[in-house]
Amino acid sequence: MNTYKTINRRKSDRIYIGNVPIGDNAPIAVQSMTNTKTTDIKNTISQITQLKKVGVDIIRISVPTEESAKAFKIIKKQVNIPLIADIHFDYRLAIQSIKYGADCLRINPGNIGNKKRINEIINCAKYNNVPIRIGVNAGSLEHDILKKYKFPIPEALVESAIRHVEYFDSLNFNQFKVSIKSSDVFTTVQANQILSKKITQPIHIGITESGNFRNGTVKSSIGLFLLLSSGIGDTLRVSLAACPTKEVKVGYDILKVLGIRSRGINFIACPTCSRQEFDVINVVNQLEKKLEDIETSMNVSIIGCLVNGIGEAKIADIGVTGSYKKSALYKDGVRQKNKLNNSNIVKELEIQIRRKLDESKN
Ligand code: SF4
Repeated sequence: MNTYKTINRRKSDRIYIGNVPIGDNAPIAVQSMTNTKTTDIKNTISQITQLKKVGVDIIRISVPTEESAKAFKIIKKQVNIPLIADIHFDYRLAIQSIKYGADCLRINPGNIGNKKRINEIINCAKYNNVPIRIGVNAGSLEHDILKKYKFPIPEALVESAIRHVEYFDSLNFNQFKVSIKSSDVFTTVQANQILSKKITQPIHIGITESGNFRNGTVKSSIGLFLLLSSGIGDTLRVSLAACPTKEVKVGYDILKVLGIRSRGINFIACPTCSRQEFDVINVVNQLEKKLEDIETSMNVSIIGCLVNGIGEAKIADIGVTGSYKKSALYKDGVRQKNKLNNSNIVKELEIQIRRKLDESKN
């Protein structure tokens, strides 16, 4: 991705979730969460496999019951990706999940109950060297804080997070990260901005309950842009009421646009008009599906005519500029002798992209 802005990341401590480093300038990890019933082991594993294909770094699984904790144990043994157990209310499920192999816990200490229960979780996490995410959410703020602020405003969310951070600190437990989320973009952004100046631990970012694919993508893009561009965020999740693989794809796309982390093909395509010499939209959509397996980052410009085609092709790794019947092909900005048949352009372009990938590996 050609971007001329350099983002200075906020300095933070380092923790590890399984083998994935979080914080202290590690690549921003992209997370998602399964939305199958955890007790439906077969479908949960199948969803994990799909998420791995699109490059997820860490997967969270909810553990609401003892049966799901037992299922978590079986799932953990059959997959090789860090798993976070998502726990609410019941501290015993947190302890069980650690014993069953969780690489991290996500808890909101505010709904776990008394300090004795939190202490038990922390002791178990310490003993097993398992990190924790303190997850503060506008929808589940502690009663006393809500009473004080009347509404889950950024200051209220930060006060809740700091309360937990200080408590974890007082127990000499430092293997944790923190998240503050709200479905309101400005609340989330402001709360994280305040929090980032008060703590040294890694911060997990995301806009919670952001809505369906379209709404959620827009809200998440705006919110995460504001945070990431000011250096805040060590790991992220794009929450969508949609297939979890879409969360991962959108997460990477946001990082790609900001020039922070790339994975796979970055398509540059024109919106098309009557000048297009081949069906650009169809070609891009088909190639996006066909090339999902590619992890190496590469810029591919697919432009319908020479108005903008040559300029874009010259700064892409591979570029196509539409022209009558056969379109011009560029590699590393240089026009190639061979042209691509417009009638077979998807297949021919796929061959060129994969060839370029092989060349770059040698
Ligand atoms: Fe139309 Fe050409 Fe512009 Fe694409 S590049 S929108 S085909 S003028």
